[in-house]
Amino acid sequence: MIDLRLLREDPDRVRASQRARGEDVDLVDALLSADERRRSSAVRFDELRAEQKALGKLIPKAAGDEKTELLKKAGELATAVKAADAAQNEAAEETQRLVLRLGNLVHPDVPVGGEEDFTVLETVGTPRDFASEGFEPKDHLELGQLLGAIDVERGAKVSGSRFYYLTGVGALLELALVNAAIAQATAAGFVPMLTPALVKPRAMEGTGFLGQAAENVYHLEKDDYYLVGTSEVPLAAYHMDEIVEASRLPLRYAGFSPCFRREAGTYGKDTRGIFRVHQFDKVEMFSYVAPEDAEAEHQRLLDWEKQWLTGLELPFQVIDVATGDLGASASRKFDCEAWIPTQGKYRELTSASNCDEFQARRLSVRMRGEWRGSGATSSGGGGRATGGHVRPLATLNGTLCAVPRTIVALLENHQLADGSVRVPEVLRPYLGGREVLEPTAK
Ligand code: AMP
Repeated sequence: MIDLRLLREDPDRVRASQRARGEDVDLVDALLSADERRRSSAVRFDELRAEQKALGKLIPKAAGDEKTELLKKAGELATAVKAADAAQNEAAEETQRLVLRLGNLVHPDVPVGGEEDFTVLETVGTPRDFASEGFEPKDHLELGQLLGAIDVERGAKVSGSRFYYLTGVGALLELALVNAAIAQATAAGFVPMLTPALVKPRAMEGTGFLGQAAENVYHLEKDDYYLVGTSEVPLAAYHMDEIVEASRLPLRYAGFSPCFRREAGTYGKDTRGIFRVHQFDKVEMFSYVAPEDAEAEHQRLLDWEKQWLTGLELPFQVIDVATGDLGASASRKFDCEAWIPTQGKYRELTSASNCDEFQARRLSVRMRGEWRGSGATSSGGGGRATGGHVRPLATLNGTLCAVPRTIVALLENHQLADGSVRVPEVLRPYLGGREVLEPTAK
């Protein structure tokens, strides 16, 4: 949710942001007029209430015709106060309804355009030249089947398309990835968290997943629960309706959860294997920071993602995602895309979003006191000062390991000619020291 004061002071900036996102610009004017009505009706209500109170004091002192006249006026005023109250409530509700539909303001450096209009910020590593090694790379599904690691046929039999089983070494590989990712995050100071996968509407709405993204979300109508598409949702809502002392910031959590995605609108896309599925597990980094620290934290999240992918020895590029592909909550998003040999292109593996104060305003998460840098302590940080200024903080999220896509990239990039797969060193301690995964299929 954007700051309504900013909207009033600089509506053109909000219009430009909506335009850059390819979204409804008229919404800005509808919101401005609802906000104007909200403010003027609140003033009107306050005036009438003051008049009513003043009149109330005069009545006991009056007598005769004067009293009759005052009582008549009091009756009229009571009706007017009731109407003004209804009008202010209606305008406030309309303002809230409209502001929740508005996306976050885009960062001025974000490239303008759609999915294909990203900017490449950096390329790390070099894709392998399989031709020079004398063999044609197999795709992840063929490798997964040879290793006895992936079973999509039975996934489809039991649950339908875009479902799968990870079996044998595939299951072990997921557990190894998750443990390695949690170990990296913990070493960086993140608190590991196992989060709920079902949340109430407010958590979903607050994180910005019920607007344009709603069609991608599973809803359990009978109980009015949503299945989360990412642990970003329960991690953002973790401090809902709370005030965090500035001295405690940044707060960093590494969530591990199943993620459920309807994948509406992707019919026919990535239908082979486990690249795009309805259910997967993910380790997600989530930070609460002071707004003035948000851009630096965004860079730090990206650096942790790069550390992770570099450790897995995957070639990848970092992109600055274009305005039209940001999603409602992000003001800026950096994706890391790993090279997928059989597709001959880089594909998204991680995504780091700076949501500024957008989610915090919707979820009412605020900070108290001045933030004096991440080294501040409770005694020196000033945040414990009672009566400190209370204001929204900023939230950011970044993927560390989205399991199936990471498995796709690992199998394809580290395959050997006979269908076995080399295990990168960072993962070996989590796989009982195994250096190579061997085919099991006859
Ligand atoms: P997002 O929360 O949409 O930024 O996604 C985080 C990461 O999860 C992406 O970078 C992908 O690696 C992965 N991911 C997203 N959707 C799917 C899906 N349907 N199946 C498998 N992995 C996915």
